[in-house]
Amino acid sequence: MIRNLIFIFLILALYQMWKGFTRGSKTKHFSQNNGLRQIDDEMVKDPHCQVYIPKSSAIKRHIAGQEHYFCSPTCAEKFKEQA
Ligand SMILES: [Zn+2]
Repeated sequence: MIRNLIFIFLILALYQMWKGFTRGSKTKHFSQNNGLRQIDDEMVKDPHCQVYIPKSSAIKRHIAGQEHYFCSPTCAEKFKEQA
């Protein structure tokens, strides 16, 4: 009898934990997605080929003390050579 009560208590505790866990992870994912979307929306210009790329997928390089964003590592290397 006592064993059964402990078992039921354990199930309830696990259920509450699972409920809290799924709810917590859901809200976390939501805010993370929103953050990523904001970064994605920011467009940067590749100074070598004059193409606009989302900041999140751009290649970031420090050239001559300035931050530059490129569409590909090849562009970054070519720009560096010219600078
Ligand atoms: Zn480029």
